[in-house]
Amino acid sequence: MHKGDECMRVAIDGPAGAGKSSIAKICAAKLGFIYIDTGAMYRAAAVYAIESGIEIDEKNMTREVLDRIKIDISYGENGQQIFLCGKDVTERIRRPDATIGSSDIAAIPAVRLKLVELQRRLALDNDVIMDGRDIGTYVLPDAEVKIFLTASVEERARRRFAELTAKGMEADFEQVKKDIEYRDKNDTERSFAPLRKAEDAVLIDSSDMTVEQVTERITEIIKGAM
Ligand code: C5P
Repeated sequence: MHKGDECMRVAIDGPAGAGKSSIAKICAAKLGFIYIDTGAMYRAAAVYAIESGIEIDEKNMTREVLDRIKIDISYGENGQQIFLCGKDVTERIRRPDATIGSSDIAAIPAVRLKLVELQRRLALDNDVIMDGRDIGTYVLPDAEVKIFLTASVEERARRRFAELTAKGMEADFEQVKKDIEYRDKNDTERSFAPLRKAEDAVLIDSSDMTVEQVTERITEIIKGAM
């Protein structure tokens, strides 16, 4: 692992359900990098608002409320664990209310600024693969490798539906697709750090690719940059 100035930063951005997190996890394990799932942080912030009974909108996300949201991440044998004010919310953040809430809370600039600070700090001393929506464009604009991973809405909905049902969660395909479309719209249309491909990012459309093929392609790109 490199330390300090020689750290390698890999940014993987793209819309919901493109396979970013599964692929980033595998690549990180192969290369000995730390995987940072920034979506989990927006999800945890949303869980804070939901469980505190705070409606998610800009005027409610005051400095005082933001200061109360304490997010910690740990990396162990079970992968990334996420803690909200000391409580493990790793599973909780995957529930549908947190999924929709995360997209709403992510449109609020003050929330983004708080979480971006945490994300940049994590990338300072480690080789990282960070996935999200604005990593290559805003969080780590100087990342050594930038990937923009996408797939058709239909395919992304299929994958998300399969993932939810495999976990034993109830899901309705049309609803899953609608939620993805809702998040795509929110993520691309917000004014602050919207979802878009960085000019120097490599575009990969995974609609007709297997996880193995995408993983191999990205691993090659990273190795080429090392
Ligand atoms: O990646 P994931 O689906 O877990 O992200 C949850 C939500 O967090 C997304 O819908 C998006 O609105 C937001 N997000 C973001 N910027 C990031 C990562 C996630 O706006 N870097």
